[in-house]
Amino acid sequence: MRGHDEGQRVVPTKPPTLGQITAPAKRTPRARPRENRQRTRALHTDSRQWRAIRAGVLAEELFVCASCGSWGNQVDHIDGDDSNQQRSNLWCLCVSCHARKTRIDQVELSNTAALPYWMPSPVGPVILVCGPPGAGKREKAQELAGGVLLLDAEHELLTSTDPAPVVIRRRNAALAAAVKDGRPVVVVADASGARHRIRWERWGAQVLALHPGRAECAERIRLDNRRTMDQKIAAIKALDNWR
Ligand SMILES: [Zn+2]
Repeated sequence: MRGHDEGQRVVPTKPPTLGQITAPAKRTPRARPRENRQRTRALHTDSRQWRAIRAGVLAEELFVCASCGSWGNQVDHIDGDDSNQQRSNLWCLCVSCHARKTRIDQVELSNTAALPYWMPSPVGPVILVCGPPGAGKREKAQELAGGVLLLDAEHELLTSTDPAPVVIRRRNAALAAAVKDGRPVVVVADASGARHRIRWERWGAQVLALHPGRAECAERIRLDNRRTMDQKIAAIKALDNWR
């Protein structure tokens, strides 16, 4: 029996070939991330504790979406950290703003150069040391920091087994706490792409971009014993793509 047309959709009647299996499947969007989010949430959305927190926030904010002002019945963690139940970290959002915010959170937690929009403005000095892999960012940052807080998520990603969103979330929380208190801080990030560096500059950081040249970076990557062979290959690739 051959596949038959059902309007636009072709319903296959033969078992799929390997090509079909590995091809991007028809999008069943967000079903999976939502399940995962629920499983890793600090408080399950059905828990009594979360329902009480949520009801309190909605009552206080009168079901008004903090982003667009329309009716909303969702409570979101502003910093994307669902274990941070402080009242100042919770706000009411409508369904569409909440979906958009969740996408923003995911982007912010995938790149060390992404500066979250909720980050408070710095009171004290902040230096961002950026550059391609192997540029010597960590050494430079250590020299500049000399005792002040150094936040190097790039180094943590190489040396810790925590997944990137966990590392970046932790960095963001530490950065927020420091800048709110006006403590000086030195941050390390690849920050490839001028728009990231401009964003940090507008936010109030002094941006220091290092690029000692491709050959020097490649040699440093080769000698860097924090990196596995695969990571070295990825770093060389990133080096060529840094702009
Ligand atoms: Zn809204």
